[in-house]
Amino acid sequence: MSLIVQKYGGSSVADAESIRRVAKRIIDTKRAGNDVVVTVSAMGDTTDELIDLAHEITPIPDPREFDMLVTTGERISMALLAMAIKSMGYDARSYTGSQAGMLTTSNHGDARIVDVTPGRIRTALDEGAIAIVAGFQGVSPDTKDITTLGRGGSDTTAVALAAALGADKCEIYTDVDGVFTADPRIVPKARKIDALSSEETLELAASGAKVLHIRAVEYARRQGVTLVVRSSFTNDPGTIVYHPDRAEEFPVEEATIAGVAHDLSQAKITVVGVPDVPGSAAAIFGLVAEQGANIDMIVQNVQTQNDGVTDISFTLPKAYADAVTRAIEGAHERLGYEQLRLDDQIGKVSLVGAGMRSNIGVSSTLFEALRDAGINIDMISTSEIRISIVTRADLVPDAARAIHAAFGLDGESEAVVYAGTGR
Ligand code: ADP
Ligand code: ASP
Ligand code: MG
Repeated sequence: MSLIVQKYGGSSVADAESIRRVAKRIIDTKRAGNDVVVTVSAMGDTTDELIDLAHEITPIPDPREFDMLVTTGERISMALLAMAIKSMGYDARSYTGSQAGMLTTSNHGDARIVDVTPGRIRTALDEGAIAIVAGFQGVSPDTKDITTLGRGGSDTTAVALAAALGADKCEIYTDVDGVFTADPRIVPKARKIDALSSEETLELAASGAKVLHIRAVEYARRQGVTLVVRSSFTNDPGTIVYHPDRAEEFPVEEATIAGVAHDLSQAKITVVGVPDVPGSAAAIFGLVAEQGANIDMIVQNVQTQNDGVTDISFTLPKAYADAVTRAIEGAHERLGYEQLRLDDQIGKVSLVGAGMRSNIGVSSTLFEALRDAGINIDMISTSEIRISIVTRADLVPDAARAIHAAFGLDGESEAVVYAGTGR
């Protein structure tokens, strides 16, 4: 008997009818002779609605209570799903993250899994039941408080359960047929990728492709869990995400470019006229770190006027922009800069592909495509298998489409998005 962990995202369980549809899929997997553990997200846009509600109460909600609030979304969907399965004649039991043994750090809103002790899940399976586990949540053994794993974290719950239970497969069910060469919502000609290495998947996720939670990909890679991303609306086999060590088992033609990702979640801060002396960057980024913000790109201008000053720009998650701006303004005198600018209308577009290592001309093709589309580049950064550019937020869809076409990634037909609001 195989053990399969399945995760259903919010758009797959958006209403009662969808929940019944998913229940049937789960029962089919059980009837095929498998043990089944299911992780479920909150219905539709419930998590966003709960977050909006919290912000109607107070601009900076208490982190402990915030996690208490947002974890209720998954509690609703897990109970409804278990009810649906039971009403169809199969045994099912729902468990909160804490009941399922998801032990995490105490860092509210962005907790890390430290251990998984799925004793109750194993018992349920041994007794022939289907176990349904609330995604995105855990409990801290230190504080005994309920925590969340960060937005999109149900993917990570599924992978962690698959690893702890030694599952044969971890299937991530969503509203598109798999991982595409770009987000089908903004690049309609995106093509589904049949198999993708975890290295490229990680880089796509890190660059903003929200189809998989980045920590889920990291966890799967570390623990050797094979991931399948597929639609809960069709029978398409989806995308297999494999460990690079197992590449020879996936005889697909290795593409130079895996895909294009975009990210609208960042803001840019520019510190204008910083004294060009040792210690300036350390002082600025020390303040940024104190606010707990993760920096993505950093650009420092070359001093051209010989006036002893330079400009430093960096991007960071929008959620931290105000706090960091305030911190730098608070140290204005000590830092001795001329001006501080915040721009939250920026976006990042990234081209990802392991083949970049050995192909020349990738960046020139990318820059020509942007030039031809009339898109001005604000910042550039690269890694071994990625090139990212920052531009104005409203130009991001055009930039993604232009790059996608320039690298020959456009498919023949339009990609289908089966549900969801893309929020
Ligand atoms: P779920 O609720 O199932 O977790 P998400 O909204 O988190 O779903 O992720 C699925 C969405 O990810 C898709 O609807 C699509 O808009 C977006 N997406 C972004 N990049 C990609 C990509 N490269 N391939 C497929 N989907 C992508
Ligand atoms: N419901 C949570 C969110 O919207 C977790 C998830 O869907 O993965 O972020
Ligand atoms: Mg998701």
